[in-house]
Amino acid sequence: MKRAIFIVAIFILIFSQMGIDVGKAASKEQRTICIDPGHQSHQNLDKEPIAPGSKIRKAKVSSGTAGIATKKPEYKLTLEVALKLRNSLRKKGYKVFMTRTTHTVNISNVQRAQYCNQKHADLTLRIHADGSINKNVQGLSVLYPTGKSTKKVNQASKKAAEYMLQESIKATRAKKAYRTGLMPREDLSGFNWSTTPVILVEMGFMSNQSEDRRLSTSSYQKKLVQGMVNAVERYL
Ligand SMILES: [Zn+2]
Repeated sequence: MKRAIFIVAIFILIFSQMGIDVGKAASKEQRTICIDPGHQSHQNLDKEPIAPGSKIRKAKVSSGTAGIATKKPEYKLTLEVALKLRNSLRKKGYKVFMTRTTHTVNISNVQRAQYCNQKHADLTLRIHADGSINKNVQGLSVLYPTGKSTKKVNQASKKAAEYMLQESIKATRAKKAYRTGLMPREDLSGFNWSTTPVILVEMGFMSNQSEDRRLSTSSYQKKLVQGMVNAVERYL
């Protein structure tokens, strides 16, 4: 009799453990991240409204910046890092969508937001690099929406931006750009059309010799991606 109780207890223990594990995996699998690697090989200067119903119009997708030392265009750097980020997030069990996986696309910033909306992303990550006429400026910053059309996701996005800044700085030891490293924006089409929490990471300045070189090394990209993954894990 004692033996029977013991065996039943063991079974209950095993099944309850299985239940916990299965539950954990399932809830994580349902977490969806949408990654938007900034820009594309050819800019599209046709205009689109910067927010639903707005009379203000901006270029559909600009050319982006380029590396002063590496001569690498921003759209190449953003995809390089985005693909690594996608792989790392998938390894962690997230469902990941990308607005583009090649350079030769023509997707406007509004369309990029709409794509991530359709995927019902728990978080949309826009990956960019910065440029300045002042070649000494360095550092990383994270942008988040503050517009009226994104009221529902502004607070969540700000939280995600704070985590993203903290974790990327921790992983890379980069400087914070623009003093605080956090940039509220209400003028970006890629934000204003978003119905998902959304942030934009400006990974560093391609207009600064040393930061530009650093951004293209695989060791630095690995740190950047690690920081981003840590931020996602903390946020979700
Ligand atoms: Zn950009």
